[in-house]
Amino acid sequence: MTSCHVAEDPIKKVAIFGGTHGNELTGVFLVKHWLENSTEIQRTGLEVKPFITNPRAVKKCTRYIDCDLNRVFDPENLGKKKSEDLPYEVRRAQEINHLFGPKDSEDSYDIIFDLHNTTSNMGCTLILEDSRNDFLIQMFHYIKTSLAPLPCYVYLIEHPSLKYATTRSIAKYPVGIEVGPQPQGVLRADILDQMRKMIQHALDFIHNFNEGKEFPPCAIEVYKIMEKVDYPRNESGEISAIIHPKLQDQDWKPLHPEDPVFLTLDGKTISLGGDQTVYPVFVNEAAYYEKKEAFAKTTKLTLNANSIRSSLH
Ligand SMILES: [Zn+2]
Repeated sequence: MTSCHVAEDPIKKVAIFGGTHGNELTGVFLVKHWLENSTEIQRTGLEVKPFITNPRAVKKCTRYIDCDLNRVFDPENLGKKKSEDLPYEVRRAQEINHLFGPKDSEDSYDIIFDLHNTTSNMGCTLILEDSRNDFLIQMFHYIKTSLAPLPCYVYLIEHPSLKYATTRSIAKYPVGIEVGPQPQGVLRADILDQMRKMIQHALDFIHNFNEGKEFPPCAIEVYKIMEKVDYPRNESGEISAIIHPKLQDQDWKPLHPEDPVFLTLDGKTISLGGDQTVYPVFVNEAAYYEKKEAFAKTTKLTLNANSIRSSLH
């Protein structure tokens, strides 16, 4: 590890997105609360804007209207000519890009927190898109340390084909926050409390950074996506086996080649196979049935960050 000191610009504009998926209610509920009363998310010298990203889906309490908003922030969709024929979420993505971006420009928001729930037993999860981002590794280290002994996992989605064009990706520093297990359309107090604490610690980190605090070099453990695993299917493409009870709720736990992952209705067990121990995430996530993802395999690794300090100090 180098001890090179990285000076970064102070953070000015932060957004907190809820309702990117309209049936993931913790973020919807928190953001609506902060729109009424923003006291707890205010920090001196920092603009923090709570925002409901997919209001039509929120109103219907559904994941999306026409297509998944959290997959359309790519140059092609953002650059499409405005038209009523475009899917609602593509039109909405263009509006959000106008308000908080433009993506990859100097004008874009510094940080966007995007609040999600999962039906999987993933606890507090931070989603990282770039493994070389000292600022976010430092922030995630701060959040993990502040939440301890409550575990907080980091899911790294950096991958040539599996990374997707997230809503938060228009910010310089995109942060996905995913807390579960919580059914779609349901609010649980324990999950709400955990998500709220993650945001509080994140904002405290930004405040400390802006005040000139130096964060020494640090390291965090992350789980990097390797591969998505579909359900076994019959010739008509229908699911022919379900998540094995021994895998259910076992997100982040080591899964060995001989371990069971699926169970057919006639009682046949299907094991993981391969020759590598992996760490499963998004096990039996409700929203991923349509994406043909029963769980994702990850590998565990350590990321190091250089010391950071705001360039104003
Ligand atoms: Zn979501």
